[in-house]
Amino acid sequence: MDNKIIRIPHELFALSESSRFEGSYQSDPLVLGADEYAFTKPLSYRVDVTNVGGAFLVQGNVFASVSTQCARCLDPAYGEYTGDIEGYFLIDGESAAPEDMEGDEYEYLNEEHTIDLEPLIRAALIMVLPQRPFCKEDCKGLCFECGANLNHETCECNKQIHLVEEPSQPSRFDALKNYKFE
Ligand SMILES: [Zn+2]
Ligand SMILES: [Zn+2]
Repeated sequence: MDNKIIRIPHELFALSESSRFEGSYQSDPLVLGADEYAFTKPLSYRVDVTNVGGAFLVQGNVFASVSTQCARCLDPAYGEYTGDIEGYFLIDGESAAPEDMEGDEYEYLNEEHTIDLEPLIRAALIMVLPQRPFCKEDCKGLCFECGANLNHETCECNKQIHLVEEPSQPSRFDALKNYKFE
């Protein structure tokens, strides 16, 4: 069985029974808009599955080592993140969803009594992955003028940026501004 799918054992169908499941699996990259987050190690998870009466509550954590692109300089940016996994699976025919739950907050346990953790894990990671990841906190980014990566090199135009209070030097952007599109 795939390691991201857990099977609910018979003994868990008794009220208040709880079991812990741990595992890991190599996940495909997560793509959020224009950003891609690759996983440099298998995702590892730990969840407790508890019979809360007519339903299973799934709660735990996922640990991810992530590689993505720095939002400032486009170099690789690495980070480690922990997301909170939460799911609620009704045991079909036994009960109705709690009144305070929206339709997208619960699912039905399938006939095989298996739970695919992957959607829960992805939802957990989306909450904690940085929207603007940086290669390091003080990343200097790219020069607006020449595109030099200012973490690795300096450039002549960089000096001009520091004199920005002065009437600005003509730049690529000014040239574009004055350009008349036919
Ligand atoms: Zn950077
Ligand atoms: Zn430059």
